[in-house]
Parts: sequence; structure tokens; C-alpha cells
Amino acid sequence: MHYPTLRLLPRKEESILRLHPWVFSGAIASYSEPVTDGSLVTVLDSKGKPLGTGHFGGGSIAVRLLSFSGEEIIDREFYKARLQAALRLRLDCGLVRPDGSCDRPNDTYRLVHGEGDGLPGLVIDIYDRTAVLQAHSMGMHEARMMIAEALQEVYEEAGDPVAPLAGIYYKSESTLPTRDMRELASDGFLLGHTEATPIWENGLRFIPDWLKGQKTGFFIDQRENRELVGQYAQGCTVLNAFCYTGGFSIYALGAGAKRVDSLDSSSKAMYLTERHVALNFGEDCPRHRSVTEDAFDYLEQMPQGQYDLIILDPPAFAKHRKVLRNALMGYRKINGIAIKKAAPGSIIFTFSCSQAVSKEEFRLAVFTAAASSGRRVRILHQLTQPVDHPINIYHPEGEYLKGLVLYVE
Ligand code: SAH
Repeated sequence: MHYPTLRLLPRKEESILRLHPWVFSGAIASYSEPVTDGSLVTVLDSKGKPLGTGHFGGGSIAVRLLSFSGEEIIDREFYKARLQAALRLRLDCGLVRPDGSCDRPNDTYRLVHGEGDGLPGLVIDIYDRTAVLQAHSMGMHEARMMIAEALQEVYEEAGDPVAPLAGIYYKSESTLPTRDMRELASDGFLLGHTEATPIWENGLRFIPDWLKGQKTGFFIDQRENRELVGQYAQGCTVLNAFCYTGGFSIYALGAGAKRVDSLDSSSKAMYLTERHVALNFGEDCPRHRSVTEDAFDYLEQMPQGQYDLIILDPPAFAKHRKVLRNALMGYRKINGIAIKKAAPGSIIFTFSCSQAVSKEEFRLAVFTAAASSGRRVRILHQLTQPVDHPINIYHPEGEYLKGLVLYVE
């Protein structure tokens, strides 16, 4: 054994044998020696048989397993192999389409989605030749430089259509699990340096903001759903509520919407949206209007029938199960008003990105909203996260984005 070990209580190995990568603190019987947050540990069953190796975290999720072998060494070569496999999947899914290679270039994608790519606690997003690395565990924080070096090598060796990375930025000041850890992290370039310049998403242009933006600087996870909005938007009058950087608005305008109103309570978000409208459609785009207002108030006050396509993509109303009831009330309320106010024969794209809210709970909230409106509502599509946010089948907690496309008569 290469690492300190911890032994589980009897029968607590069952979820690990089913390849679930988390060990809860309540499952642990004993430690071979004291371990600190971020250390690598090998987990043993109650009889001493090795089950896997991972990062110790100290919280209720005590270990996030990186390997289901007690023998594997977690070094730069280990990370390199996982990163190569992650890149292979994105290439196989056709996500890497550089400028000039086709008429819908795409150089923006999530390379590593934590447990979905066998790397719990790690997120890596790619924006053209910049990678943004985000740690959600102390173990990944401590391994950041090793991972950055492996990542650089993977991109140097990959060859066409993958270009070498020019900068690897670290953005974890707000994502590490405890305040002490967050105080230790300092955001900045680990390797190289790049400026934020326009990137491509399905032939449209956006500017990620890894210095100050939410997540790693752009919401990559709505790419496929934005594209579906494009399929419905032609000739429509569209409301994009909770627009942030205006992703859905740009797709709707690009697909020939008659008018798009982008709505967000944050003036910073409206600035980012307007910048994206200008980048794609010129400084003066008469089809677009910005509204800086609270979405609940705006929807409440708008006349019925003003829009025939409404997008509702609110922030995660519930960050954990404790506030689930309030979150469900929020979804019920916003969807209820939108359904009531939608034009006859209109479409609503409605989302929840709260991991704590299940698909069924979200659907029940939308059902309750529809029922109270008294209108006939049908579900046309059930949406989820895109291919570069894969869900490890043994780790259903990795599924977080849910959406419904409703047809309101
Ligand atoms: N749809 C976006 C992501 C939305 S993030 C995309 O595809 O990129 C959620 C956004 O909701 C944030 O920009 C936040 O400013 C905004 N927001 C939060 N509460 C709001 C409210 N009550 N009314 C309007 N906007 C709100």
C-alpha cells in the first residue's frame, strides 16, 4: 500500500463495490494514521481488503475515490491518462471544431466534469486556447500544478484539430468547500497567460470572463439547449429571463427571432449580454432590448400574450436539500406566472440547475404551476446537461441540469 489507509465498518463497502466514488465519514471505522484534508488515502473494507484510493476531505464526504484499485499511484501519469480519455470523448462527440474547419466552429467545451470523468472534485473548461481549472476539493487544490502540467502535455501531443494551450488559469477561490481552504487558494494563471478574446460556440461568438464571471467564466452547460431554442425562435417574440450573458438571446436572434427581450436583475449581466449582441449582430441591433429588472416583478406586470417564446433559466434556488421547500416554491411561482402570461400556442423553456432538486421534484413544481393556471400544457422536450457534462451512471448525483419545453395552448 502506498498511502495511509482507512478501514470501513462492516457492509459499508457495498456502494464502492457498485463503483460509487464517495465514502461518507459515518462509514469509517479506523485510520492507519492521522490524515489531513487533501491527502491521498487507500480505503479498505472491514476485513482489510483494498477497495480504492482517493482524496481525503474531512467533511461528510470523507473520501472521493479516484481509482477503484488499491494499487494505483495517483501521479502526473495518472492524471494525464484521465485527461486524455476526457479529451477523446469530446473529440468523439464532435465538440472540437476550430475556426475555419466548418461553418459552425466550436472551441468551447467542458473537458472534465468531476465524477463524470473519473476525477471527483475537478472541473476543467476549455475556451479556445485557455483552460480554466476549478477545484472543489482540497485534494484537487493540492494537485493543481501536476494536473496543469499533465493538461499542457495532453494538448501539445493531441495534434489536429486540437491546438496546444496558451494559458491555464486557476479559479477556485469560491469553489473550495470550506472557508479555510478558500483562503488558501489564490486565483491566477498556473501556466502561460492569455487575454479573454471571443470564443466560438456553434458558430456564435462569446467572451468568457474567467477573472470575474460566474462558474469558470461562461455557462457552457446550456449549449445544446440554446441550440434547441434556435430551432423554435424564428419569427418569435422572445423573452429570455435570467439571461446572464445572453446565451439564449444570441441563439434566438441568430435564428431569426422577430424580437428578443433579455431580462436580468444585474446590470453587469445586461452589459455582458449587450456586448454579445454587438459582437454577433453589430452595435445597433433593433431586434434586441435589454431589461434590468427583477424577473418575478417583470413577469407579474407584463401583459398577457406579449411573448410566444419564454426562457426561464433562474440561478440554483436550492444549493442544498435544507432549503428545498423554498426552492420548489420559487420554481412553482415563476413558472406559474409565465404559463399564465404566455400567448396561446407559445413555447416555454424552463430550467432548474439545482443539484438538490430532482428531475421529478422539478417536474412536479411545473405541473403544480400549470394546474393552477388552468391552461392546457404539454411537454414537448425533457432536457438535461450536454455531452461534455457526462453523468457517471454509478454517481447519479452528477445529474443537475433539468429542463422542460412546454407548449401552452
Ligand atoms: N441563462 C444564463 C444563466 C443564468 S444564471 C445562461 O445561459 O448563461 C442566473 C442569472 O439570474 C444571473 O445572471 C442573475 O443575475 C440572475 N437573477 C437572479 N435572480 C434574479 C431575479 N430575481 N430576477 C432577474 N434575474 C435574476
